[in-house]
Amino acid sequence: MGTPVLIIGASGSGKSASLRNFKEDEVLIINVSGKPLPFRNRHNTFLSDDYQAILQKIRTTALKSIVIDDCQYLMANEYMRRAKENGFQKFTDIGRNYWDLIQVVIRELPHDVIVYFLGHTELDQNGSEKFKTIGKMLDEKITIEGMYTIVLKACSKDGQYFFTTQTNGADTVKSPMGMFEPAIPNDLKLVDVIIRDYYSGEEPEKCEDCTGYIKATKSQTVKDIIAGTKAKTGKQLCSKCYKGWVKLHETEGV
Ligand SMILES: [Zn+2]
Repeated sequence: MGTPVLIIGASGSGKSASLRNFKEDEVLIINVSGKPLPFRNRHNTFLSDDYQAILQKIRTTALKSIVIDDCQYLMANEYMRRAKENGFQKFTDIGRNYWDLIQVVIRELPHDVIVYFLGHTELDQNGSEKFKTIGKMLDEKITIEGMYTIVLKACSKDGQYFFTTQTNGADTVKSPMGMFEPAIPNDLKLVDVIIRDYYSGEEPEKCEDCTGYIKATKSQTVKDIIAGTKAKTGKQLCSKCYKGWVKLHETEGV
């Protein structure tokens, strides 16, 4: 179970610049718009606005931190390619394709992978600041922010760049209680460290069969148990389910 994180902000608010403190071998950057990063770098960069190509890349990379920069262009470019189509179907498809990408992050990627979606903001009809989509037709079908537990906003004030981590009442910013200070430096590497720290203490490993927590024993850590049961059964199991598996398969074996 990977973690999708949305970083919103106006153009020039410091979203892309916030990548600067990732080491070159720490992050995969999917560049959707083709715009170069605003600092000198030799990071792993993949230029594409094609969902299949992006999915293939994020499923196969060994890197644990992935950034999809200018992700609003995934929807905007699909919209432009299909601009001549009449009817509402294209809005459903555009929403669905974006939804599918986030679902892959949540359901298929390993639990220690974090995918940062960097996108522009726009104002909704109430004047609230939200992730920029391709308009009302799509917003009626899907609330993008609803798919993320963490939404941060890049801001600048008096020459200082920072991320806000809680809503100001007129934006869609949110994060789990106690994870961040209300405003933090615009440093995505720092965000990455904080999120990993927070979840390492908070999210116990679960058994794939009974969904109970996997607990360490006197002789084995949780990691050891998972490695052992995965090697033997192909699944991460608690001790009880593992014993059940062994019993069943040994009976079958003879
Ligand atoms: Zn179990």
